[in-house]
Amino acid sequence: MAYIEPAPLMDKENPFEAMMSRFQTASQILGLDEQIYNVLKSPARQAIVSLPITMDDGRIRVFEGYRVIHSTILGPSKGGIRFDMHVNLDEVKALAAWMTWKCAVVDIPYGGAKGGVCCNPREMSAGEIERLMRSYTLSMIDIFGPDKDIPAPDMGTGPREMAWLMDEYSRTQGMTVNAVVTGKPIVLGGSLGRTEATGRGVMVTAMSAMQKLKINPYNATCAVQGFGNVGSWAARLLAERGLKVVAISDLYGAYHNENGVDIEAAVKYRDENKGSLEGFKGAESMPGEEILTLPVDLLVPAATEDVITSSNADKIQAKLIVEGANGPTSSKADSIINSKGITVTPDILSNAGGVTVSYFEWVQNRLGYKWTAERVNRRSDRIMKDAFDNVYKTAQDYKVPLRIAAYMVAIDKVAKTYKYRGGF
Ligand code: NAD
Repeated sequence: MAYIEPAPLMDKENPFEAMMSRFQTASQILGLDEQIYNVLKSPARQAIVSLPITMDDGRIRVFEGYRVIHSTILGPSKGGIRFDMHVNLDEVKALAAWMTWKCAVVDIPYGGAKGGVCCNPREMSAGEIERLMRSYTLSMIDIFGPDKDIPAPDMGTGPREMAWLMDEYSRTQGMTVNAVVTGKPIVLGGSLGRTEATGRGVMVTAMSAMQKLKINPYNATCAVQGFGNVGSWAARLLAERGLKVVAISDLYGAYHNENGVDIEAAVKYRDENKGSLEGFKGAESMPGEEILTLPVDLLVPAATEDVITSSNADKIQAKLIVEGANGPTSSKADSIINSKGITVTPDILSNAGGVTVSYFEWVQNRLGYKWTAERVNRRSDRIMKDAFDNVYKTAQDYKVPLRIAAYMVAIDKVAKTYKYRGGF
């Protein structure tokens, strides 16, 4: 069947609509049974809870929390908890489905979920956030569980919040259950290698794609947008493998050096400068948006969603785009990029190193054993490489872009599992 270009959406497209448009296209090409399509479209379970919290000034504020389980057909559901002002049920539903596809594409035995609380953690004290996280955990006590639904950090939450969740859950069970959540501090059973896992997966995906495109990493140049966890680790690991990282950027500035930016120096500068690259002296400053259109071999958008759109896609000069961020490319930009012959490894494949090592954290917790960083890295590299090869082969077989191929691999796996299990 010929590849059908996804119908371009209007300018107001958000990444979740973009995901649905690609889901539809992949389902059409697979010839997915309409009944299974309808099953996959709808989340399995949605919980909305009210969380009354005593604030530091003694007043009680009520927050709304959500947990959406998109699918548990492949195993317990997995997905982060977001603390953010913009959290709403629709967004959580879309993000939960996204997790199903991400876990399926890297072939880890998890379904997809997502949770969130509409709040502004930047304006809350540690005590208020702790009470909110513990209350959220108690409200979700019949949903969470190491064999049922395993949360993780997302925007606005981190290891500290996961420790509170683990503790609160454990109290209700009368024993320590560290496998109920991932992204914990190392002392509580967090995994070595988790911090760099997503950036490392980006690197493995980029190296695999460059091999197919016959790009020699020692002659290749690269630009990385976003210099947080994903971007800085990806830049560092790509530089270690011989690529010349000629540009990096964050919210506060973009920096270009034709001879290659010293990534270690940039990381050190950022860490000593409250997380910002502003004023970095190892490269020349340039306008932030230009990082996407530099004449480089590899572009890694690792900042945020919707940065490659119909208004700049035409100017992109990279041969390869490896998506580190979630949803950096709009579906309208897809067709422009495809027509230019640029290869894109999609988010659900290239940033899945994080959820892969979260899965390893859960495996280690259940084994009651700790792996070395070397073992974690070796195993996650193999999963990422196998996933890339599988998606690449699907793209060749069906003559579709890698993005559609990744959705096809994921949807096919989930749909086949539904068919075998039946029970409708
Ligand atoms: P982070 O907060 O550590 O870093 C984000 C970086 O992007 C910061 O340097 C920030 O200044 C920069 N940034 C934000 N908006 C920007 C813009 N418009 N232009 C340039 N720079 C901008 O976040 P992170 O954990 O590195 O996540 C980055 C992306 O990767 C997000 O889309 C996230 O959802 C996705 N992701 C992260 C993980 C993970 O394990 N951390 C896993 C999968 C996907």
